[in-house]
Amino acid sequence: MTRTVLVINSGSSSIKYQLIDVDSETSLAAGVVERIGEETGSLKHETSAGEVALEQPFPDHTAGLRAVLATFRMNGPDLAEAGLVAVGHRVVQGGERFDAPTIITPKVEADIEELSALAPLHNPPNLDGIRAAREAFPELPHVAVFDTAFHRTLSPAAYTYAIPTEVAAKNNVRRYGFHGTSHKYVSHKVAEIINRPVAELNTIVLHLGNGASVTAVRGGKSVETSMGLTPLEGLVMGTRSGDIDPAALLHLSRVAGMSIDDLDTMLNKKSGLLGLAGSNDMRDVRRLAAEGDERAQLALDVWAHRVRGYVGQYLAQLGNLDVIVFTAGVGENSAPSRADALAGLENLGIIVDPKLNDNAPRGQAARISPDGAPVQVWIVPTNEELEIAREAAEIVG
Ligand code: ADP
Repeated sequence: MTRTVLVINSGSSSIKYQLIDVDSETSLAAGVVERIGEETGSLKHETSAGEVALEQPFPDHTAGLRAVLATFRMNGPDLAEAGLVAVGHRVVQGGERFDAPTIITPKVEADIEELSALAPLHNPPNLDGIRAAREAFPELPHVAVFDTAFHRTLSPAAYTYAIPTEVAAKNNVRRYGFHGTSHKYVSHKVAEIINRPVAELNTIVLHLGNGASVTAVRGGKSVETSMGLTPLEGLVMGTRSGDIDPAALLHLSRVAGMSIDDLDTMLNKKSGLLGLAGSNDMRDVRRLAAEGDERAQLALDVWAHRVRGYVGQYLAQLGNLDVIVFTAGVGENSAPSRADALAGLENLGIIVDPKLNDNAPRGQAARISPDGAPVQVWIVPTNEELEIAREAAEIVG
């Protein structure tokens, strides 16, 4: 009998899902409901038999999930016969409470809700998905897999902000880190690929997508990561600024009269590549720069400068480095971005071979450093859904 897990990643206006066979580690169906709460929404459902798409309004997450279940019934695979052992839910903020995947009970649900104060954009829609799915599958165990959990191994030196201790403690202000499921999957996967025990490896993972973060992994454990209290800190992202002097916000508040909400929107939704170059998509920014657009070129320069700075910093934190891994949309698909990110680091043993980099096959793991280089540089496609399915299956036994 096959064992499968339904993985649900519920965002503010979308539900992504995947049905995963956890024994063969293959995806049996994948899909997404988009524009929940808008006038018309869409649903795409893909299986080995092909893709189906439909357009209709989905007033809320419950309606979206009902439509997903109906689509499974009409187009397969039949969920009643699929050997479901659990539903795995991505939850962004697990705070200090959750350092491992957790079976969702009413108490756990209440804890996730309480943590919404720290992640107001993420935890509430995650909870909407959990509630809708528990209603749909009341008999199955539901497992929360937290983006922050992998980073619970950060030392106090790495996670503490130098503000007054009482203020930080009272308000839970510290670095949590995100994308943990991806950083864990990729750092363990690369060890498997190069056939070395993960316990012996020092790795820097560059998760470069629309959201982007870097993690230093020592012996399979996260020791430093670039996102902080929220996913805003660190790298230049699609629409997020990444690092900025906090006093710039005080200045903008005083001098430009910007409110807290104005600043929040600016930093999270209007900055990064979008703010600098007018598009949050790396493909557009590269095309514009190639056409001579100076703003786009500056955006690329700032982007790469920041990544390179983090690589140097994490090399120093780790002491020595075995592997660098690129993953996510930009990391997996954009050879020039990979080359720019690590340019000039040859004397540190970090070398990208232009031929291997340019000819790396899409969607597969590939080494892009030359034979025998001191640091191996790899592309490893991330698979957060598979990691969630594995963890959910493991905890339910
Ligand atoms: P998310 O953070 O939303 O999960 P992804 O990891 O899917 O993002 O990455 C999406 C981004 O990847 C896109 O916005 C785009 O900038 C970038 N991307 C995808 N394909 C390419 C490509 N061929 N070249 C450059 N950038 C790409």
